[in-house]
Amino acid sequence: MRAVVLDAPGRPLTVAERADPVAGDGELLVAVEACAVCRTDLHLRDAEIAAHGLPRILGHQIVGRVAALGPGAGAAGHAVGDRVGVPWLAWACGECRYCRSARENLCPRARFTGRDLDGGFAELTVADARFCLPLPPGPATELAPLLCGGLIGFRALRLAGDGVERLGLYGFGSAAHLICQVARHQGREVSAFVRRGDDAAAALARSLGATWAGPSDEPPPEPLDAAIVFASAGELVPLALRALAPGGTVVCAGIHMTDIPGFPYADLWEERTIRSVANLTRADGAALLDEVRRAPVRSHTTRYPLEGAEQALADLRAGAFVGSAVLEVAADQGSGG
Ligand SMILES: [Zn+2]
Ligand SMILES: [Zn+2]
Repeated sequence: MRAVVLDAPGRPLTVAERADPVAGDGELLVAVEACAVCRTDLHLRDAEIAAHGLPRILGHQIVGRVAALGPGAGAAGHAVGDRVGVPWLAWACGECRYCRSARENLCPRARFTGRDLDGGFAELTVADARFCLPLPPGPATELAPLLCGGLIGFRALRLAGDGVERLGLYGFGSAAHLICQVARHQGREVSAFVRRGDDAAAALARSLGATWAGPSDEPPPEPLDAAIVFASAGELVPLALRALAPGGTVVCAGIHMTDIPGFPYADLWEERTIRSVANLTRADGAALLDEVRRAPVRSHTTRYPLEGAEQALADLRAGAFVGSAVLEVAADQGSGG
């Protein structure tokens, strides 16, 4: 198969021929249709997060067809020909106190797609059948960004608490443009904070229902009940905190962030909270996909061929596109399954 591989930390991804993977016990062999590109892929590529067991195939927002079942994999309910989504959480132990309390996202033994195991920047991949998600209908390239951007954004929105009427999104990229639509369907008001001068991101935010879009260092028209920081710039956290109403929450949704500068205690006073969100559970996946079945979400995508993965990461680093970058690996085989 063709694959795009990270050979060494900080080095450009290379196109390679690899032996076809074989589905092991409980695994599905998945023929990849599309794989979206996440900022985490860029952090792995740039050695800001360590990838394990190099060379490694990145990519953890995979849409594909089940091509074969490994021994025992049928128990998870997927059949050959079904379309599945393979997300970031590849495996959790099922036995630790986190797994036993609906927090498999925090399992200390968890393994992650495209970091600990080979991912979807390839024609084929294998995945634990129990961690693969059934998908709603739609083009593969539109569904793929839901599998991390959408999922992490959705978990962040849930962890922001109930009763959030005014939501701020800091960094209007892949996750934010999806979760803006979910929040609007839920009747929340959305303010979008973009890099000063990023008129394209601000315009996309307004077109998706944001009532205000402006630079991150400007206050929103009204104080926020919650702010989700998707950008990896730590200096946004005190800015977001200052934009909150009393009792509000800042949720940091990225896996990596630069250091957060100090701020006056008065900005945290009145029961404001800063928290992070880490990874996802399978229940988050099911909940988001249910939500999307009821109220469809459109991904705004820029498409690249599989061999264009390094270019997609360069464009993400440079902020050269709005919405989500997606690798189109194979012809879309339709939305059934
Ligand atoms: Zn566990
Ligand atoms: Zn991701």
